[in-house]
Amino acid sequence: MKINNLYSPNFDKRKRSNKSIKLIVIHYTGMQSERVSIVRLCSPKFKVSSHFLINEKGKIYRLVKDEYIAWHAGKSNWGSYKNLNKNSIGIELVNKGHKFGYTTFKKKQLSSLIRICKLLIKKYKIKKKYITGHSDIAPLRKIDPGEKFPWKQMAKNKIGIWHNYNSDFLRKYRNIKVLEKKQKISFFKNLKKIGYYFSKNTKISLFKTLIAFQRHFRQELVNGKLDKECLIIAHDIAKNCKNS
Ligand SMILES: [Zn+2]
Repeated sequence: MKINNLYSPNFDKRKRSNKSIKLIVIHYTGMQSERVSIVRLCSPKFKVSSHFLINEKGKIYRLVKDEYIAWHAGKSNWGSYKNLNKNSIGIELVNKGHKFGYTTFKKKQLSSLIRICKLLIKKYKIKKKYITGHSDIAPLRKIDPGEKFPWKQMAKNKIGIWHNYNSDFLRKYRNIKVLEKKQKISFFKNLKKIGYYFSKNTKISLFKTLIAFQRHFRQELVNGKLDKECLIIAHDIAKNCKNS
């Protein structure tokens, strides 16, 4: 696999061990163009970076070597991990994002992503449940890589976790309100089991975490409303997380 080396100065100069690498975090660049994204990720002025960037044609750039901590995750949580820069590999996908014209991810871009993920998973023994999007680990601040990112297709390639239901079955439960408090509580308990973190049970943090869950696992309708479809999916994903 061809990887083009660029250099970003935005990383911690102390090396980390291979063992500390536990997660992959997927992002979109969310900027007007590929060029602008690269300039930003490589400029000392902005203090952001990632390990890899993949453009729409599938060309892979390495900006920071794996053994150094890149600055892509920010304040974040997943399962028992906190401030994930030190434990993760960050991969940026060129996409204008919600602000400048969100588009579907390109075929060649995704096949490069799949190849690089497979390599990283093997090298660092990364578990399925630790392959996340930026919005999963920072739901209050972030919405990338967004609801167009094909998590289901990734899971078919053994990258990340997915549920076992077919979409025709699930659709019947969409928009069916969850009324019982007990069910609501069990839904958020399942989100915690999956890895989502909310420190206080404030309305806004529950709402944003529910949206992050939908962006990842129920992309057909991202509305911040808890329905039975979400309930069923969360239950199944939480179960699948146990052994993966
Ligand atoms: Zn991001």
